[in-house]
Amino acid sequence: MKRDEPAKTQRTPEERLDELAKVAIRIGLGLKAGQELVVTAPIDALPLARRITAQAYLAGASLVTTLYSDDEATLMRYRLAPDASFDCASKWLYDGMAAAYKSGAARLAITGASPLLLSQEDPEKVGRANKAASIAYRPALELITRHEINWTIVASATPAWASAMFPEDQPDVAFNKLWDAIFQTSRIDVADPVTAWKEHDAELQRRAAFLNEKRYSTLHYRGPGTDFRLGLADDHLWMGGGTRAGNGIYCIPNLPTEEVFTTPHKDRAEGVVTASKPLSYQGTMIEGIRVRFEAGRIVEAHADRGNDVLQRLLDTDEGARRLGEVALVPHSSPIAHSGLLFFNTLFDENAASHIALGQAYSTCVRDGEKLTPEQLAAKGANDSLIHVDWMIGSGKLDIDAISSEGAVEPLMRQGEWVNA
Ligand code: ZN
Ligand code: ZN
Repeated sequence: MKRDEPAKTQRTPEERLDELAKVAIRIGLGLKAGQELVVTAPIDALPLARRITAQAYLAGASLVTTLYSDDEATLMRYRLAPDASFDCASKWLYDGMAAAYKSGAARLAITGASPLLLSQEDPEKVGRANKAASIAYRPALELITRHEINWTIVASATPAWASAMFPEDQPDVAFNKLWDAIFQTSRIDVADPVTAWKEHDAELQRRAAFLNEKRYSTLHYRGPGTDFRLGLADDHLWMGGGTRAGNGIYCIPNLPTEEVFTTPHKDRAEGVVTASKPLSYQGTMIEGIRVRFEAGRIVEAHADRGNDVLQRLLDTDEGARRLGEVALVPHSSPIAHSGLLFFNTLFDENAASHIALGQAYSTCVRDGEKLTPEQLAAKGANDSLIHVDWMIGSGKLDIDAISSEGAVEPLMRQGEWVNA
């Protein structure tokens, strides 16, 4: 894969934050003058949240509303709240967010919570709380997964995340290392980040267009612990980089993003898959995941660590055992290149080819926004309360692409694109 690396520039920490905030608002969201913005952020991301607020108003935002979360307060619930608490969720808040999106607001999430926050808590409570939140959040999340509005996710370093990633280092050293990694992999440490992002977006669009022209029917994965065939949904569409949301605004939903992705067929997955990286899921770690698929459904699953959480996740609903996304990422992506494990899906999913359990993106099916849930299901698009990406790619993964006539072409070798 060809990768341009424009000259690194010397910016002060404040200037780097401003560049990240500018990319988030202009490239990630494409925020329009007069648009409202709803931001969610960990309280430890306050410096970036404020820069983003400033950039949003400079871009003409009519109102920026930020909802802060606090890791310590989250833990207090697990330590102190009565048992019934774990079936509760702030439905009124999620309904309010959905109302904001419907009235034209954009959505920006700052990620950065501790990846290990809930790792010592009772998995049963964690599972119940996650399920309650998923149910309450669904109406708002659907507007996001259907891309009806412009939205994006961007990362801020936080002390807890940094010490989870760099446990050997002093807290301030770890914190600075994490910021460096975020700026580098988010393509901020270049002379002109906005232009670099436009070029990168064009490259991802080109690759998605190549795959859409090919109209492959099935992908065959082979690697350590993996021999797996995955059918693609009827009328699937590959996407990468930016997307034009239903409100007409062009946005890039993930910063960083390195993937091209589409909707697999929920009934056409066969064989065994071994995860190539640990999965950080809602504050817990799931490591050494191995599953076996039959007719699209996971019939056997095991994790060496976090197996309880994995089993509960798979039992969320019928669709939780089936796949809703397949994504291809070259092993030479800047994130894989960093050699770091971020314990954060936004980064780790862009370091390796991955698949996602659960909900499919209807935008990855041709005219999917116009189809009913039944029509989408008939084409193979999966339906679930969850959408959880997990990494299966590495420098040892080969992927063949198979046409509907049965012709086989090499697509990736040793984790790199062959032709695309
Ligand atoms: Zn993905
Ligand atoms: Zn995903």
